[in-house]
Amino acid sequence: MLQGINITKRFGGVTALRNVSFIVNAGELVGLIGPNGSGKSTLFSVISGFHPPDEGAVIFEGRTITGFPSHAVARLGIARTFQIVRPFTGMTVIENVRVGALYGRGERSVATADRRARELVEFVGLRQRADVPARNLTLAEKKRLEIARALSIQPRLLLLDEVFAGLNPAEVRSAIDLIARIRREFGVTIIMVEHVLKALMETCERVIVLSSGEKIAEGAPAEIAADPHVVSVYLGK
Ligand code: ADP
Ligand code: MG
Repeated sequence: MLQGINITKRFGGVTALRNVSFIVNAGELVGLIGPNGSGKSTLFSVISGFHPPDEGAVIFEGRTITGFPSHAVARLGIARTFQIVRPFTGMTVIENVRVGALYGRGERSVATADRRARELVEFVGLRQRADVPARNLTLAEKKRLEIARALSIQPRLLLLDEVFAGLNPAEVRSAIDLIARIRREFGVTIIMVEHVLKALMETCERVIVLSSGEKIAEGAPAEIAADPHVVSVYLGK
């Protein structure tokens, strides 16, 4: 479904990604881990068209999308959430999701977009908060809104950036349940960046590890957890 080939991305003197290649198959839930600053969010930005890579290619469903602007990538069916959630803070929950539904693949009328937005708000557990301005949500609620907004464009590939970060254990548990429901009900392929390793390990089928912008390991969660290089990268930080 998605292939990255030798992706390099520099920001001034910083090489955020160096020659990163990977494949994601349709239906997979792939984890992307690595210490802070290892390039995880940058990889999401390159895939989703927020930052063109300096070198390399991104191929989605057989089409080269390298350098496509983010709105074009979204229309092809790739949605992302942001590590720092960024809803339209003055708009209500339902308004935020409706914007995505109008903007994405499919919905053309406000009425259909509104219906779709209401379903999604319900799905992520925010029905009772639907008419609250996004700025008044708790962090856990903002993360749910971010997920609803991503789903509103009817993506085939969903990029989740640290949706568990800052949540308490009960909130992490229910976010894991939400992700399982998303897979079941939407059949969407997911790449998930996560710092809560335990959560990731029990959720993902395959894990890719970045360190200082390079891919240093890839495999089943149990393999990755036992990989001495991965362990040293985490303990050494
Ligand atoms: P991660 O998500 O793994 O914590 P990032 O992808 O955010 O890492 O960052 C990788 C590196 O790229 C870091 O050194 C970071 O400071 C740098 N970086 C990321 N985004 C930008 C940007 N927009 N401008 C300049 N440097 C950036
Ligand atoms: Mg990040």
